[in-house]
Amino acid sequence: VMASMAHLQEEKLQLQEELLGLQEKLAAWDNDELSCSLHLQGQVETLKVKLLEQAQEIGRLRSELGGTDVEKHRDLLVAENERLRQEMKACEGELQELRRQQQVPCQDCTHLQENAGLQERLSQMQREAEETRAKLVELDLEVQQKTNRLAEVELRLKDSLAERAEEEERLSRRLRDSQETIASLKSQPQQIKYIIKTVEVESAKVKQALCESQSRNQYLQEQVGMQRQVLKEMEQQLQSSHKTVAQLQAQIMMYEAELERAHGQMLEEVQAMEEEKNRAIEEAFSRAQVEMKAVHENLAGVRTNLLTLQPALRTLTHDYNSLKRQVRDFPLLLQEALRSTRAEIDQAIEDVHSTNRELLRKYRRELQRRKKCHNELVRLKGNIRVFGRVRPITKEDGEGPEAANVVTFDADDDAVLHLLHKGKQVSFELDKVFPPQAAQEEVFQEVQALVTSCIDGYNVCIFAYGQTGAGKTYTMEGTAANPGINQRALQLLFSEVQGKVADWDYAISVSAAEIYNEALRDLLGKEPQEKLEIKLCPDGSGQLYVPGLTEFRVQSVEDINKVFEIGHVNRATECTNLNEHSSRSHALLIITVRGLDRSTGLRTTGKLNLVDLAGSERVGRSGAEGRRLREAQHINKSLSALGDVIYALRSRQGHVPFRNSKLTYLLQDSLSGDSKTLMMVQVSPAEKNTSETLCSLKFAERVRSVELGPVSRKAELASWPSQEQLEGDSPGTAAPFGRGHTSASPGQLSGRAASIRRKLQTSG
Ligand code: ADP
Ligand code: MG
Repeated sequence: VMASMAHLQEEKLQLQEELLGLQEKLAAWDNDELSCSLHLQGQVETLKVKLLEQAQEIGRLRSELGGTDVEKHRDLLVAENERLRQEMKACEGELQELRRQQQVPCQDCTHLQENAGLQERLSQMQREAEETRAKLVELDLEVQQKTNRLAEVELRLKDSLAERAEEEERLSRRLRDSQETIASLKSQPQQIKYIIKTVEVESAKVKQALCESQSRNQYLQEQVGMQRQVLKEMEQQLQSSHKTVAQLQAQIMMYEAELERAHGQMLEEVQAMEEEKNRAIEEAFSRAQVEMKAVHENLAGVRTNLLTLQPALRTLTHDYNSLKRQVRDFPLLLQEALRSTRAEIDQAIEDVHSTNRELLRKYRRELQRRKKCHNELVRLKGNIRVFGRVRPITKEDGEGPEAANVVTFDADDDAVLHLLHKGKQVSFELDKVFPPQAAQEEVFQEVQALVTSCIDGYNVCIFAYGQTGAGKTYTMEGTAANPGINQRALQLLFSEVQGKVADWDYAISVSAAEIYNEALRDLLGKEPQEKLEIKLCPDGSGQLYVPGLTEFRVQSVEDINKVFEIGHVNRATECTNLNEHSSRSHALLIITVRGLDRSTGLRTTGKLNLVDLAGSERVGRSGAEGRRLREAQHINKSLSALGDVIYALRSRQGHVPFRNSKLTYLLQDSLSGDSKTLMMVQVSPAEKNTSETLCSLKFAERVRSVELGPVSRKAELASWPSQEQLEGDSPGTAAPFGRGHTSASPGQLSGRAASIRRKLQTSG
């Protein structure tokens, strides 16, 4: 035990030494720890100060950054926006009101267009405001983001600060614990053994704690480094924040300016709109006033109208009711009226029928009487009439004394003409004389009674007599523009027949023939050169007919023209010189009118013979020979024969020498009986034709004088002078029968016959 005691003692001493060393070490350690903790405390202190500074800096920065300013500004803008919106709303309300006002009084005034423009502008401004609003919202968002980030940074800072404080707390607590432990260790040296053990144990613990605190210290240092890093970063962030803030401020300024401008514009527009509105309202008001006035007036008019209309309406209703009644009764009345009217009409028709029957009877009786009268008239007047026609002087007459006019007329008597012959004036009286200026129409008017008598069944002959070139063909055929008797006669016959179509059936047919050198030729036949014979009808009627003579049935004016054309062509193809040939031959147009009275069955046949005679000039005297002489002889013979026949007829001789010439023989039935003859004596007024004119006029006067008075009747036995005798006669010299006007004594004209003639002439 002693040994162990000693050993223990030694161990104790050793331990004490160790303890001492440990104590020293501990003290050193303590010192170290103290200084370290002091240092750490100092560091913590500085960190705290820095933190504080940073917090301050952050606060300052925040205020500097104007985060709140931006917010304020945003709030301000929002408020401004709200106000503007309110204003706009008010404006819109006003506008709508205005529109309503405008719409009501004026539907299509120019303000509507202005209003539309303003609305357009308003909507544009609204759009702009909307855009600004959107921008503001964007800005809001940005600011929000920034504040969020700032809050984040703050949070992080706060966290790190809290952490650090915690750490500090922990460290100081540990320090305190260590110090307390040391203090307690110091206060208990007597329990060293135990304590040593404890210390041993504790020193291990302390060692561990030291290690821990060392590592902590290291960690803290790292933390501080990290914090520094963070700080740096934050500084950088701060800087960028500064920049952003500057940018944002610039943007905000821009937006503000824009907003201000927009606001100004809006204000202006609002002002303009206000003015416009006021003006429109004023206009509308004045217009409305005017309209109102008009409406009032209208109303007053309508009221008065209404007042006057009421009685009218009453009468109208009354009328309407009575009309309705009438309409109801109308069919019955109508039937009644129709019945009675029908009966009346039947009665009237019956009356008319009986009247018509009576009239028809009277008409027929009148017709008979007229015919009787006509026959009597013809008997009294003589059925041979002689007209004279003087053609105008033409270019062919030439100039000088030869072409001088030798024919003059009596202004008071259209039946007398005077011829200047060998210095003496010789007067002739015919039935009528046509001066050169007489138109074809006038001439036809004088002969149309003769033409129409053909329809009543009379035979008529119209001769054109005179020297070649005196106008025979002109009078009979005329020109295309101015047709003569031929065409006009046919036209008249057509129209007359048309007028009688109710009772009569008529057929008009036409033949055309030529007599040249006593040979008769058919001008409408297929063989015009063939000579035709005139024969007695075998029925014993004594009528003559020409076998083979073509007869064309004509029904229209076109047909007539066709017939004339055929006649012309046939005449022209048979001779070398048509003019010469035509002057040497007689041309005949024979129109036959056959009628049937449907009611009586009476048949009539009338013939109209239109004859363009050959030239009456005295060729034989001028020593013509051969063919010319033969032609002249034939012409002389036939013209003399015609004169003879007429003379015999007029003087009512028993024998009429029709057979002496082809012409008279052919026209026999148209010259005898109650037939009528017109001799149109054509003369030239030129001085060079005086002797021929004289001959023609003598012939005319002789033909005419045949029927006049008892003296001429006495001359019945005397024969008709030949052409040669006519030539030899001079006016005023004695002749076997009545003379020209110059020689006839007044006593020769029986008073009765003369007066009848005059009457007839005036009546046409
Ligand atoms: P004729 O047949 O007697 O030989 P025309 O009839 O051939 O004679 O007439 C000779 C000329 O005189 C023709 O050129 C005709 O046109 C012209 N003539 C005849 N009579 C008249 C008249 N009344 N008016 C105008 N011209 C006429
Ligand atoms: Mg002729």
